[in-house]
Order: sequence, then C-alpha cells, then structure tokens
Amino acid sequence: MPEQNPYEMAKKQLEDAAEIIELDRGIVDYLKVPDRVLQVKVPVRMDDGRIKVFTGYRSQHCGVRGPYKGGIRYHPDVTLEEVIALSMWMTWKCAVVNIPYGGGKGGVACNPKEMSEAELERLTRRYTTAILPLLSPDRDIPAPDVYTNPQTMAWIMDTYSNIMGYAVPGVVTGKPVEIGGSEGRTASTGRGTAIAAREAAEVLGIPIKDASVVIQGFGNVGYYAAKILAEWGAKIVAVSDSKGGIYSEAGLDVDEVAQHKAYTGSVIGFDGVEEITNEELLELECDVLIPAALENVITERNADNVKAKIISEGANGPTTPEADRILEEKGVFVVPDILANAGGVVVSYFEWVQDLNRYFWDEERVNAELEKVLVRSFKEVVSIKKEYENKKITMRDAAMILALKRVVKAFELRGLWPQ
Ligand code: GLU
Repeated sequence: MPEQNPYEMAKKQLEDAAEIIELDRGIVDYLKVPDRVLQVKVPVRMDDGRIKVFTGYRSQHCGVRGPYKGGIRYHPDVTLEEVIALSMWMTWKCAVVNIPYGGGKGGVACNPKEMSEAELERLTRRYTTAILPLLSPDRDIPAPDVYTNPQTMAWIMDTYSNIMGYAVPGVVTGKPVEIGGSEGRTASTGRGTAIAAREAAEVLGIPIKDASVVIQGFGNVGYYAAKILAEWGAKIVAVSDSKGGIYSEAGLDVDEVAQHKAYTGSVIGFDGVEEITNEELLELECDVLIPAALENVITERNADNVKAKIISEGANGPTTPEADRILEEKGVFVVPDILANAGGVVVSYFEWVQDLNRYFWDEERVNAELEKVLVRSFKEVVSIKKEYENKKITMRDAAMILALKRVVKAFELRGLWPQ
C-alpha cells in the first residue's frame, strides 16, 4: 500500500499552491472535492465458469474547462481515493498544457496479470456499461492508464457504439489507429516525458546527448521515454519493473531489453547487467531520473539519497509533498507529473479532435504539435517559478499555479448556477 494516501497528497499540493497565490477559501474547498464519483459493481464470468465480482470507479473532478478526460487503471491497489486523486491531477494536467478538458479518472480493482484476455474483455465491457451514463464524447472521455492499452480502449469504443447503434470513436482515446486512434498516441506520454527531461537539461546546461538516464517502470511510458531519449543519444543506464531493476554503466540497448521483457515477463535476467532493487535504482548517480511506475516512490525516506540532477515524472504522483521540499533544497530540477506526463493527454486531445472531424493527421504532424504544446507549457511553468522567486516555490507549485489560474478563471467566467 502507498505510504501516503494519494488523495491527501493531491489536496496538500492544491493547498500549497492556493496559499502562494492567496486563492479564495471557497474556491479551494470547491476544487478539493470531485464534481461526482461513481462506484460500480463489475461481475465477471471467469473462464472457469464462476462469477467474480470486482469494484470499479469513475471520478469526474472538475468540468469547468470542458469534458472530463482521463485514463482507466486496472490494478489490485485501485481505490476510490486514488481514483479521485488521479482525476484531480488530470484537471491540473489539462489546464497546464491548456487543452479544453476537465479531469476524470477511472479504475477497476483487479489483477490483470492473473486474468485471461477473454476475462479482461468481459470485465471491460461490463465496467463500460456500468459507467455508461457518465460517458460521451462531449461528457467524459476515457483513455489508457496503468495496465490498460489500445485493445482495452477498442472494447470500450465497441461497447459504447453498440449501445448507441453507430460508431462513436470520440468517446475514448488511445484506440488502435484502425478504429479512429491517432498516430503517435502510444508513444506520446513517454515522448512528452523525454521532451520534459530534455528541456530541463537545457536549462541546466546538460547536453541530452550522453546524459545518463535511469528509469523506474518499463511499461508504455518508461519504454518510450527510454527509446526516445536513447534516439537523442542519451545513455539509459538502468531500468526496472515491478520485479526489480537492471543496471549497466555502459548503457542498455532499450529494444533488446524490451524484447527480453516481452519474452520473459520482466527486465530481470537480461544478460551482462547488474541486478538492483527498485529502491536502489531511485538512488543511482545519474543526470535524469524518470519515475514511470506508480505513486509515492520518492518520499521523505529516500529523497535525500536521490542523486539525479533532473527528475521528469512519467508516473502520476511519484513524489510526496515532503520529498518535494527536500529535492528543492538539494537543487534537483523536478519536472512535475502534470507537465512531464501530459504528452499522453495532449495526443489524446489530438485524437479526439481527429475523431470529431473525421480527418486524420500523419505522425509527423502529431509529434510536431505535441512538441510545440509541451515546450510552450514548460516555458510558461519556468517563468512562473521565476515570477514567484521570492516565495521559493517548486516547479510543482509553479505548474499548479498555472493550472489553478486557468481553472479559476474559467470558474469565475462561468459563475455558479443554480445557486
Ligand atoms: N492516463 C493518462 C494520464 O494519466 C492519459 C489520460 C488521457 O489521455 O486522457 O495522463
């Protein structure tokens, strides 16, 4: 279980940023709780014929800037509070990069590693049906998150479309391209995390070529961040997954490690490397550290031992507020999750726009527009950090301030109704 409840963490981050900009108490209270949450029962016929009952959630945090947007997570540790926290982070994330969405998030408490493809399909379709009243391309648009993927999104799209009676690709993003997905979406979160690391390196005057990179998590985000940084000439010295990590001072061949993982189920056991634990990995000497797994991995217990110069947060919520202060004092350049992993939802936005227009872009255009949005947002966050220099704010505070100002402005313009 996480060391700190992610919802408490999310509320603390909001409080900290609100205090810096002296935000009205009523608005802070308004933003601390989600607009609505739905908890559903998800009964699934397992392959052995028995019925197993799972619990699913969807949280819609704040809809003032547009439809709710955010992934769906399948993981044994999914809880209502985690889903609420993740939906709150989505509100800030969409606002930081200035795309017209509010935050949403969903999840089912299950262990997909122990389920067959057919069981996962039945679970997905039943869960989709259960949360269907919340969904639509104008209302709430899910996407992949931890242990869900384009196939999961295809089942969601199909279930929704069958009920509506016609194909509705815009109800979900991160779909396979054959049914309305976007070129570049699968790599986009990792690409964004790599861009964030590159921009931070530029600020610090570290050339990304030959920079040493350590990555926790070798799922979709970790893999693409590694692959893209390696393409830019960086040296990936360590990667890990839930079973443990591998280290090579000379650098790892990302695709060979990926092949090994696809074959054996883990990065562990890869030839010619040193095996390390996930805890050791976070404390390795390196230029860039990318936590790309789950919440709560950099805490007050280990923050002081982090030796990276830059942290680019591929995961949501990897660093606790206490650890943030320690890292700031140590002078570590932290690119917060709501900026560093926003590449996924930015390309989700492009996918949704393409679906609504029935007009599709090539990968070059997707990547170029993603680059533009992220570099602009990165610069905006850096300039807010400078603006509040006298208050010694962190990059996370700066990103939160940018997001909060946008959300609050929309809230004020729209007003309260009914009152
Ligand atoms: N689950 C991803 C995230 O946390 C993507 C969300 C989306 O594309 O809607 O940002």
